[in-house]
Amino acid sequence: MTDTTTLSAPAGSTERPIIEHWVAGGPWSGASERSGPVFDPATGEVQKLVRFAAPGDVDHAVRVAREAAETWRDASIARRQQVLFAFRQVVHTRRDELARILTSEHGKVLSDAHGEIARGLEVVEFACGLGHHTKGAYSENASSGIDVYSLRQPLGVVAVISPFNFPAMVPMWFFSIAIATGNAVILKPSEKDPSAANWLAAAWTEAGLPAGVFTVLHGDKTAVDGLLEHPDIQAVSFVGSTPIARYVYETGTRHGKRVQALGGAKNHMLVLPDADLDLAADAAVSAGFGSAGERCMAISVVLAVDTIADALVDRIAQRMAALRTGDGTRGCDMGPLITAEHRDKVTGYVAVAEQDGASVVVDGRGIEVDGDPNGFWLGPTLLDRVPTASAAYREEIFGPVLSVVRVGGYEEGLDLINAGVYGNGTAIFTNDGGAARRFQRDVQVGMIGINVPIPVPVAYHSFGGWKASLFGDAKAYGVHGFEFYTAEKAVTSRWLDPSHGGVDLGFPQHT
Ligand code: NAD
Repeated sequence: MTDTTTLSAPAGSTERPIIEHWVAGGPWSGASERSGPVFDPATGEVQKLVRFAAPGDVDHAVRVAREAAETWRDASIARRQQVLFAFRQVVHTRRDELARILTSEHGKVLSDAHGEIARGLEVVEFACGLGHHTKGAYSENASSGIDVYSLRQPLGVVAVISPFNFPAMVPMWFFSIAIATGNAVILKPSEKDPSAANWLAAAWTEAGLPAGVFTVLHGDKTAVDGLLEHPDIQAVSFVGSTPIARYVYETGTRHGKRVQALGGAKNHMLVLPDADLDLAADAAVSAGFGSAGERCMAISVVLAVDTIADALVDRIAQRMAALRTGDGTRGCDMGPLITAEHRDKVTGYVAVAEQDGASVVVDGRGIEVDGDPNGFWLGPTLLDRVPTASAAYREEIFGPVLSVVRVGGYEEGLDLINAGVYGNGTAIFTNDGGAARRFQRDVQVGMIGINVPIPVPVAYHSFGGWKASLFGDAKAYGVHGFEFYTAEKAVTSRWLDPSHGGVDLGFPQHT
């Protein structure tokens, strides 16, 4: 995590704006003196500071949210729908503003920031159908004169803890459905790019959401632990790296909460000899280097069958030569990495792969960029013949580094994918329908693309991986989202009349 500074004496940073929490419908400072720096990754400068919550701040925010949840749960479905529609409209109309915030703190290029907003809004739009998704079932006359029905109720206050790589979309995946179902939400966004959360909070206020239903609490581990241990938080949705996801799942469930914790990834794309190699190369480059590889659904490894591997590597390298890396506001293809520390970590993996015997076909180290030289840059990098024993193959890199591993055929490729610890996304490129069908059956991964490199499901299907990519039973959004944020009750009801008299100690049977 980022080193913290003290707000009262931040080293050389007294003039920088402070990003405050958002509690009870507006900015709130809380009592904590701790803060962290927010960089502009394209210049390397600290542009703002963000407040880090103390345990007492967590208590206050939860108290406010709990009171708001009591009223919001009684808002009619029609009223909640109106607020969601209005929120969707505010974000859609002012998406340029939000996209600029994303680019300035995350570094992703503007077109990519717009894509992130569009995919987040998709879930808001899906959540607008809450009337349909929360209606229960009714069985008339389940037994003579007895009706049985089910209903779904909100949980109360729920927490969303999000990663740096999608500061708008990932929170929207969760809070849209949580709010639609009548809960109050406390969002703890990444401390690396926290402004989008406050912008979204202001959008909720503009849309007419009552104060306290949506809270933003900024911070680090202290804030996360405060939420995980708080008795009035009913559920936690987490997205981030696998070690933290595991920790959040174990801590949250130990404290009696529902937890869905989405973790890291190492996504493989298997290219069979019958694939269209130009389309496969386009896909590998788009999915490998979009958002500088800082996507949990990025393609990290291309498994190329030996007979076509040279041709595929050539095509990928040709396309990479045309990519422009630089400031996300200048129409470049790829922006900087999130921090200098992360850039150095990613660069370290390139060196490790080289030492382990991989060849660096395209080297992004020391690349010329269209931007400030102090930004956190690493150009697109292509590694070939990466040994599967190398840490560069086994570990999540989360940067613009695409590794090619050559395999003898389909079986060897499948075995490698299934041997991995992660199971988030994968793709197969082939024109053989039978092979694709076998792949979707046999691969141990939660989201599969058939000639689609980034298979992020649409909002009415759910998003989530397998193995170390998801802890918990519930995926994000779709039907899983509605189930996760509501508790089901089953009611058995009879309207008494004299014919129902008489004592019977036997277990109820149906007549
Ligand atoms: P991260 O795990 O460092 O941080 C995620 C959240 O956890 C942040 O809000 C952060 O403040 C908090 N956190 C960090 N350290 C903590 C600690 N020790 N205790 C408690 N909380 C802590 O992840 P990141 O670097 O922000 O995001 C990148 C990671 O997220 C990658 O591993 C990526 O694959 C993963 N990711 C997964 C998905 C998915 O859907 N599976 C989606 C996006 C990102």
